Amino acid sequence: MDIWEKLYLAAKPLYKPAELNDFVYANNVVCALESKSGKIYTGYCIEMACGTINLCAERVALLNMLQDSGEMEVKRIIAFRDTPPSGLDGLPCGTCRETLMEFSSNNKDTEIMVNYDKRETTTLGELFPNWWGSIKTK
Ligand SMILES: [Zn+2]
Repeated sequence: MDIWEKLYLAAKPLYKPAELNDFVYANNVVCALESKSGKIYTGYCIEMACGTINLCAERVALLNMLQDSGEMEVKRIIAFRDTPPSGLDGLPCGTCRETLMEFSSNNKDTEIMVNYDKRETTTLGELFPNWWGSIKTK
């Protein structure tokens, strides 16, 4: 079992789309990441009636990592719905890309799963070149 399968299997059981109440819908996107130290953290998305409060699965996993260990660097990350990513569907949104970069500019090297079956990955730096914060981190 490679690290990607470990990450996939860690996140898969979280996929349980559900309306938690009249305002909160959750668990329809799941994520697992490997921190720099090698720990695995997971998260699921939380969508709320007031949309600006929404949290993507990736950011929930990042916050779980930060709270648990204080770590801010991510080696690799995978996010998906009911099936593993098979193309552009697994890529993080702009807010999650920004969050990863602000956590650490070293996250430009974070590997992001693109196509699970082919083990095709990209990096945050490839998705997000010329990040504005590079001015501060040079
Ligand atoms: Zn996102």
